[in-house]
Amino acid sequence: MSKSLQAIRGMNDILPEQTPLWRYFEGTVARLLDNYGYKQIRMPIVEFTELFKRSIGEVTDIVEKEMYTFEDRNGDSLTLRPEGTAACVRAVLEHGLTGGGQPQKLWYIGPMFRHERPQKGRYRQFHQIGLEVFNLDGPDIDAELIVLTWRLWGMLGIRDAVKLELNSLGTSESRGRYREALVEFLSAHLDKLDEDSQRRLKTNPLRVLDTKNAETQAVLVDAPKMADYLDDESRIHFEGLKARLDAAGIPYVINPKLVRGLDYYSKTVFEWVTDKLGAQGTVCAGGRYDGLVEQMGGKPTTGVGFAMGIERLILLLETLEQVPDEISRQVDVYFCAFGEAAELAALALSENLRDQLPNLRLQVNAGAGSFKSQFKKADKSGALYALILGDDELAQQVVSFKPLRGQGEQQSIAFDALAAHLATCIVQG
Ligand code: ATP
Ligand code: MG
Repeated sequence: MSKSLQAIRGMNDILPEQTPLWRYFEGTVARLLDNYGYKQIRMPIVEFTELFKRSIGEVTDIVEKEMYTFEDRNGDSLTLRPEGTAACVRAVLEHGLTGGGQPQKLWYIGPMFRHERPQKGRYRQFHQIGLEVFNLDGPDIDAELIVLTWRLWGMLGIRDAVKLELNSLGTSESRGRYREALVEFLSAHLDKLDEDSQRRLKTNPLRVLDTKNAETQAVLVDAPKMADYLDDESRIHFEGLKARLDAAGIPYVINPKLVRGLDYYSKTVFEWVTDKLGAQGTVCAGGRYDGLVEQMGGKPTTGVGFAMGIERLILLLETLEQVPDEISRQVDVYFCAFGEAAELAALALSENLRDQLPNLRLQVNAGAGSFKSQFKKADKSGALYALILGDDELAQQVVSFKPLRGQGEQQSIAFDALAAHLATCIVQG
């Protein structure tokens, strides 16, 4: 196939054999979020470029080098969204969802786009589920966000493989004081910093803490710590969060170098990391962004949220072999019919079964075929039972009911008793 007719590097098809696991994952999260009282919001995939520059920050990896930006036919600069928070805040402001200080607990799911080097767990189109909470400023809601992810890891069977890292970035004032101290320290070690960090020292010094460069990391060991510069308000907030995590029995480690890649965070930041996926170990990350809404032109409105990377969590489920067996079986019953008259009767009967058993997963054979070939297809479909209708059965107004996975003998069942019989055999989801 010529290259221009292939998918773009780093943008993946999710194939039929993979979608059951995606749907299981997405369904599990959606049910959990419903149960915690979060409401789904759906934003466009494309926004004005300015939105991301203003919210994420000009001097971040995302805005500096990862965005898919293009001019549309009107000459407007548009960008495929690299993350969800900016668009969510935009939508909330545009529709007055936080007007009068009313709280909002929102979530979204969908594709995000970043021009990064594709590798395992890092793609150019990837998917996130994100939560954003507005107008609740206490540590109780920060704790709820973490508690519900902990529950999710439990439901998915991956709790033992993830670790919670926490930090507090303080208010913008205390962060300012810390920034000064950090700049002073790093300036004294300028020659040992990598090129990126030297540049960031001038533009966005806190981001130096996030460096992946080993030599710079060595310098950072003795750097001033944010914890020593925290204002009282942030310290009390952070203590409140830790007390709640302790009460809920959720283990965590404080990582003073955790600053996150986006500019808008304040107070709480956290990441769930795993050592099972190599370099791409962060599966869920977020924090508080109390200044963002105002920075984007709204009234002062506190915010806190996180996003999880679906591809990485799917990889983790596969790596840990936590893929439930039953999710890939999509057919309960396979209907084989032989000859035109039987096919017509099978169609009518099938539609009647669907009326009576709305959750029945029934696949009707298509394309006719010999007894042997239809049976092969029935078996391959994964169905638990085959229904067989030929001239003999038709004459007697019965269907042969054949268990395919060794649950009993073949038997004849009258047309009008079929639905009741299937109802007893199949667990209705
Ligand atoms: P990283 O440090 O791995 O680049 P990030 O800090 O850029 O992550 P966020 O913007 O916080 O990531 O996004 C939240 C989550 O989305 C990440 O923890 C990760 O699970 C997932 N994610 C981010 N970028 C990608 C990507 N390019 N491919 C797949 N998943 C991603
Ligand atoms: Mg990144």
